[in-house]
Amino acid sequence: MQGRPIRALTVGQGPRKVVFIGGIHGDEAEGAIATAELPAAFESAGLGGIVTLTVIEDANPDGRVAGTRGNAHGVDINRNFPASNFDSSDGGKPLSEPETRVITDTVDRVAPNLVVVAHSWSGRQFINFDGPAREIADRFAAASGLPVEESRSFAPTPGSLGSYFGRDRGIPTLTVEVLKGSDPRTVWEQLRPALLQAVRG
Ligand SMILES: [Zn+2]
Repeated sequence: MQGRPIRALTVGQGPRKVVFIGGIHGDEAEGAIATAELPAAFESAGLGGIVTLTVIEDANPDGRVAGTRGNAHGVDINRNFPASNFDSSDGGKPLSEPETRVITDTVDRVAPNLVVVAHSWSGRQFINFDGPAREIADRFAAASGLPVEESRSFAPTPGSLGSYFGRDRGIPTLTVEVLKGSDPRTVWEQLRPALLQAVRG
């Protein structure tokens, strides 16, 4: 850690709880505008009485500044969760990183009905899900135009956020993969209806 804060914002006071994470890989900043705009759009849509939305602006601020996938220790936060599939072959330990602990503490405190995390992917875009989120992923796909991509079609993702919260703990988790290099403003316009719908549940 280089002392940069990880900022979280909570809006609304409804019974449904949602955690949105604006970034976890520092070189995937395409969701930044969507993250910044989501709280105001949430209020405008009148969701404050239905949902409590917690937005973690960026879980990897050091990586964002450096433009690196991992954090200042060179660790991929999205492989650092204490999931049953954690891979310790590189000598790493689950929850060794402060960023991973902030996310885990936030999710433990909020006990959300849904976790959404923003990423980007080279060459294509899609929505991925873990845990009991098939239906919400299908609706997100219909509203955004991003196809649903099954987790099993990926390379293994040991210790990922989705492995831990989604598959191990049964918290519906959406991983939004927008096209790497796309304009963050365009990303927001494309995702806005789908994000608000997913937040509303
Ligand atoms: Zn990513």
